[in-house]
Amino acid sequence: MNEAIETDVVIVGAGPTGLALACQLIRYGIEFVIFDAKASITDLSKAIAVQARTLEIYEQLGLAERAVAEGAIAKRVNVITGGTIRGTLDLSNIGKNLSPFPFALLLEQSKNEQLLYDYVQRNGKKVLWQTALESVAQTDEKVTATIKNASGEMRVITAKYLIGCDGAKSAVRHKLDFTFEGNTIDALFYVADVEMTFSESHDGIYVTFGADSFVAFFPMQGENRWRIVGNLPEEARREENEIDYDEVENKIRSETQMPLDITNVKWFSVYRVHSRRVDKFRDRLCFLAGDAAHVHTPAGGQGMNTGIGDAYNLAWKLALVLKGKAEESLLDTYNTERLENAKRLLATTDRMFELGTNDDFLTNFIRTHVFPFVAQYALRLDMVKETIFPIVSQTGINYRHSALSVHQGDENFKVKAGDRMPYFLVGGTSVYEFLREPKFHFLIFSDGQSDFQKLKAQIENEGGEQLDCQIFPLYPRVAETFGVNESFALLLRPDNHTGFISEEISPNKLRTYPALKNAFKEDCFI
Ligand SMILES: Cc1cc2nc3c(=O)[nH]c(=O)nc-3n(C[C@H](O)[C@H](O)[C@H](O)COP(=O)(O)OP(=O)(O)OC[C@H]3O[C@@H](n4cnc5c(N)ncnc54)[C@H](O)[C@@H]3O)c2cc1C
Repeated sequence: MNEAIETDVVIVGAGPTGLALACQLIRYGIEFVIFDAKASITDLSKAIAVQARTLEIYEQLGLAERAVAEGAIAKRVNVITGGTIRGTLDLSNIGKNLSPFPFALLLEQSKNEQLLYDYVQRNGKKVLWQTALESVAQTDEKVTATIKNASGEMRVITAKYLIGCDGAKSAVRHKLDFTFEGNTIDALFYVADVEMTFSESHDGIYVTFGADSFVAFFPMQGENRWRIVGNLPEEARREENEIDYDEVENKIRSETQMPLDITNVKWFSVYRVHSRRVDKFRDRLCFLAGDAAHVHTPAGGQGMNTGIGDAYNLAWKLALVLKGKAEESLLDTYNTERLENAKRLLATTDRMFELGTNDDFLTNFIRTHVFPFVAQYALRLDMVKETIFPIVSQTGINYRHSALSVHQGDENFKVKAGDRMPYFLVGGTSVYEFLREPKFHFLIFSDGQSDFQKLKAQIENEGGEQLDCQIFPLYPRVAETFGVNESFALLLRPDNHTGFISEEISPNKLRTYPALKNAFKEDCFI
């Protein structure tokens, strides 16, 4: 057995969730070891939709520009019925004024993993590839993981925390006896990455609904490259490996009734879908994130994005606790916040899937004959966009029920404690440009009646390295977004969710804010 490794955090699995967690821990200067049973990042396209919230997280890592350049923006969804496009939904600016990334980006999982892995390597860290988890054990003080590499060599890692980012079949989840309740959907799905000559333009998504089935084409970067997905309800009783590609291609042709010529199949897979989740994300010093904690139908393109969101939520909490700046109990809020999100996610994706494939006559009629017409007009309305975009893009995720959301004072605001910081411009620049540093931000929006400079200096002096204070003018757009016309202040957590918001502009609330108590010297503001 080789010499033992000691570190602060062990990350099991280097898929999108594990790599995203590694990137975040690098931002906070936390020591970690990350390993994966595979030989390298995936070369399969798998997840293809990258949501706006993920791009906002990428932006803080300096990765968003490259992601957008390498991907394709989903400009429209065309609904095909009987070989004809019956409705076109314009998606090009569906999130206008709601995010700096007001669209869904189509960028394969392999490219997302490459972006994150490059960041890890650029920062002098490495992934231990071809290294699998053999066993895990924990006491109240430490967690011990035994790993085995491709040559069969075993090694022990001791750490303060371990995060299982090891996917749907998670060894961490099994070894620590987490439950994984839910169901398996009684249908088979297929995915194919192809080169295809198709009569329609290459910048839109195309969907055909059958009585209980669907086929969708997603454009991928590169000439004639498409992702095709769909389901095979009539084949539910067959095994995944009994279905061959030619059968599926025939089905694609008969369902879409469109002229198309598939010249090359780069990846083809048939799979079953599960809708399951754990009932807790934490067991003492061990945590689960990503598919290890929740799996669901592909409806809405949420899985990879949610794993990246889990990692983003957990990293700053681990960092504060490891640096001795917050109580251990801060880590429990990872469980409450992300478990609530996972429950909501499974309910939404199950509902979307049901609507897309339910075979009762009325649902089918609405899906194929009413929806294409109504949706294209509805999506022109700001109100509809403002309802749909936050759900699908994950920008609407909030932690209003969290112990970290202090509601006293937020009664008169449209934005509540727990909400993500809304997007707006400050002097022509995205507000998020001012919020890139991995720390808390105390923001004062001033109507010009008072001078807050002295207060700012005091807060920054006493708040230490995990807090800054910034003063912004109360622009009309800000007043409208927050629903107030007078100066106010808010505390943003390092993940840009609001801790509290209030018309009272003083440091008092900072001293008692749950995750900041340890940051201030006793009585420093008195
Ligand atoms: C066809 C398809 C389409 C999809 N489309 C979308 C989409 O559009 N948008 C979206 O957001 N999501 C989508 N998803 C879901 C997405 O692919 C997953 O949610 C995502 O891969 C989860 O990432 P993860 O890092 O949590 O898990 P994984 O990607 O499964 O990574 C887990 C890693 O852990 C490693 N590992 C496992 N066990 C061990 C062990 N014992 N020791 C060491 N390492 C181990 C594995 O090798 C793997 O690299 C799609 C999935 C499929 C299959």
